[in-house]
Amino acid sequence: MKPKIWLSSPHMSGNELSYINEAFETNWVAPLGPNVNGFESDLESYLKDNRHVAALASGTSALHLSLIMLGVGNEDEVICQSKTFSASANPIVYQGASPVFVDSERDTWNMCPEQLEIAIKDRISKGVKPKAIIAVHLYGMPYKVDQINEVALKYSIPVVEDSAESLGSLYKGKNCGTLGDFSILSFNGNKIITTSGGGALVTKSKTLKQQAVFLATQARDDAPHYLHSQIGYNYRMSNIVAGIGRGQMTILDSHVAKRRSNHQFYFDAFKKNNKITFLQEPEGYFSNRWLSCILLDSKETREGLRLALEKENIESRPLWKPMHQQPVFEKYPSYLNGVSDELFEKGLCLPSGSNLTDNELGRIVSAINSYFVTC
Ligand SMILES: *Cc1c(COP(=O)(O)O)cnc(C)c1O
Repeated sequence: MKPKIWLSSPHMSGNELSYINEAFETNWVAPLGPNVNGFESDLESYLKDNRHVAALASGTSALHLSLIMLGVGNEDEVICQSKTFSASANPIVYQGASPVFVDSERDTWNMCPEQLEIAIKDRISKGVKPKAIIAVHLYGMPYKVDQINEVALKYSIPVVEDSAESLGSLYKGKNCGTLGDFSILSFNGNKIITTSGGGALVTKSKTLKQQAVFLATQARDDAPHYLHSQIGYNYRMSNIVAGIGRGQMTILDSHVAKRRSNHQFYFDAFKKNNKITFLQEPEGYFSNRWLSCILLDSKETREGLRLALEKENIESRPLWKPMHQQPVFEKYPSYLNGVSDELFEKGLCLPSGSNLTDNELGRIVSAINSYFVTC
């Protein structure tokens, strides 16, 4: 068997261990310390636009805290992009609220602004105004930020920007992760940079960051004894994990460049194959190309290709199965136009890691080419 080629695997810079060693030597082995502060300020300098960053245990915990801080509770409804990973929607249910799913458009595969407005109007006519909108930059491609914000502003509904897959992407020159009322990042093992597990909440003010850190460290009031007037969470990032993050920040831009060159390599290799198409960057959009995705001409071709790659020990995966199709979310309202269903049927994510070698890329392309010769 040839060695396994993974979809997206961790890629260390080599600097991580020095930060971790320093944490051990100084005994900062806790969910606070110099690496946590250092990682937050590295992220703040990277993101710019005066944002404040709270390093947390995961992207999911960052989403959860953003909903808590927006006051989402029982009986509320929160709009969420249907085409996404389940972690975007789960925290809505943690809060006892109901998700309302909105379909995608074809230019970015993200939330469709027209469907969003249809959904908002319909929910309002039913007597419940949505409390927040969770929009996602899938696979690193920014969503239609101006159009989504325009609808959100028109109805005064805050936007939570799920930027878990899009650190390093830009929309009209601005960093993804700075484009919502709250934004979240993820540093899970498969993301563009990883801390093994981790995430961050990006806020517009220092006060909001402090509030997030307060909630993430068990909501301890200022007193010599343990005093609580609110429910707290254990969601802070540890100082060891943050050391990995500081090392990863030194190579973030080179990871973006390598992922973009993977995408370009696939694009050039399959230009002449009329059964394969790619998502182009619209004018003003810059994708980190976290995952390189292709669309095939049918569900059968997509599944045939996936199995052919699996035989060659190459991991690939269908695009996210939309939330409105998930057994756990089926019962919630959704506003659909067929786009995310079609993308799920025809789309495939190819290996996209920043550590892919030329040899591995060559193996992937020849496996795909021989599938199309024999099928
Ligand atoms: C990975 C991911 C998350 C969750 O991040 P974790 O750090 O794994 O909790 C949320 N949303 C999207 C779109 C993701 O891809």
